[in-house]
Amino acid sequence: MGSFVDVAIVGAGPYGLSVAAHLSAAGVDFRIFGKPMQLWREHMPHGMRLKSDGASSDIVDADDALTLKNYCAANGIEHHDHMVPVRLDTFVSYGMAFQKRFVPMVEEKFVTAMERAANGFILRLDDNELVIARRVVLAVGVAAFKFTPDFLTGLPEEFVTHASRYGSFDALHGKNVTVMGGGASAIDCAGLLGDKGENVSVMTRRPSIEFHAPPGYRSLKNRLRAPNTGIGSGWRLRIFHDQPLAFHALPAGVRHKQAAALLGPSTGWFMKDSIVGKVPLLTGLTPRSAHVSHGKLRIEATDRFNAITTIVTDHLVSATGYKIDLRKLGFVPDTLRAQIKQQNHTPVLSTHFETSVPGLYVVGPASLHSFGPLVRFVHGARYSTRRLTPHLVRSLVRGRTPVPVPQTDSATS
Ligand SMILES: Cc1cc2nc3c(=O)[nH]c(=O)nc-3n(C[C@H](O)[C@H](O)[C@H](O)COP(=O)(O)OP(=O)(O)OC[C@H]3O[C@@H](n4cnc5c(N)ncnc54)[C@H](O)[C@@H]3O)c2cc1C
Repeated sequence: MGSFVDVAIVGAGPYGLSVAAHLSAAGVDFRIFGKPMQLWREHMPHGMRLKSDGASSDIVDADDALTLKNYCAANGIEHHDHMVPVRLDTFVSYGMAFQKRFVPMVEEKFVTAMERAANGFILRLDDNELVIARRVVLAVGVAAFKFTPDFLTGLPEEFVTHASRYGSFDALHGKNVTVMGGGASAIDCAGLLGDKGENVSVMTRRPSIEFHAPPGYRSLKNRLRAPNTGIGSGWRLRIFHDQPLAFHALPAGVRHKQAAALLGPSTGWFMKDSIVGKVPLLTGLTPRSAHVSHGKLRIEATDRFNAITTIVTDHLVSATGYKIDLRKLGFVPDTLRAQIKQQNHTPVLSTHFETSVPGLYVVGPASLHSFGPLVRFVHGARYSTRRLTPHLVRSLVRGRTPVPVPQTDSATS
């Protein structure tokens, strides 16, 4: 038999920590599992700066006591709502300080399996403990969803890695590296490698690399044409940023199209100096196949005239992003996944982030196709947390009946 808890939060990134801080303030009995700020500490390149502004990068407690701005002020760290890019190490130390202050109870354990039980769920942890929770909030971020194109499948790691692998770039030192992708992750990797004096180029399908406009004065006409939001500028973003439920109300097909189309690849304005004129840009190339020959990776790509080009490199970093796909969450067995209503393998969520399995919630980037572009970013943690937690508290009070002890744990073995 396992231990009982009202709520289990799976994940201790900005979303999991925000939900935990709110549940703690509400006096809810909960446990939270995961490695605090793991994505930011382990899977983002050292030296990176955040694409999101200082004003849009808060982890959220119930009283807004420890915003990024407050943390920087208290620690003598330069901060500006829009003009000063947030350094990765600042954001990590902020996240860890938030965790210590509001979520000291986080358990650095991983959920390895999960199954439904009467009135709740049974979670198996990596130390084999069984936890029986009435509600589960999945805040697992994007790491499990990394996407690599099919044509790279099966190639050895010596030649191909996903960008999420790097923290430090030491393993690539001295190699000729090609970074594939046109978004922020590709440009961050290439720019930071170039800054270190490594031999790096960028290959992208796009005809050019797009950088965000640097912050600064925008005329009234400009702002009326494309108003600012915490996640970019434009009217559609304004609406979906201010009213995620407007996005939620759209037909599923439209939401999925919009989720893919809004906020296409573009990168921080501050990376321009590291890239333009410094890193060779192989633009307008669509990769078709790749193989290893004579100790090098050979990538065949077609240009816009359909002519074939071969790129020969020591190593390809696939900065090809993430695709939400519930099949990739290894700890959610087929039996449970089959009960979750999905569209294109993404969860269909209620207006309170609940899946079709009562008591199972999803927040963070995996809620993108229900709540829109806001929740792809840290900035969405405030909205998500403040929509979810009062609902959770109410539902726990309403359904306060003893949780029956499950008779078997067969699904978790
Ligand atoms: C390269 C890159 C750069 C980005 N830059 C920005 C940016 O500048 N600004 C911005 O707003 N957003 C940025 N993002 C998006 C960012 O991923 C999200 O905004 C944010 O991290 C989502 O927070 P989260 O808490 O949902 O997930 P994460 O931060 O990914 O945290 C996931 C948590 O889940 C835990 N976990 C996973 N599996 C399990 C398990 N089985 N059991 C227990 N715990 C588990 C992990 O240990 C971790 O604690 C970037 C993403 C990438 C990949």
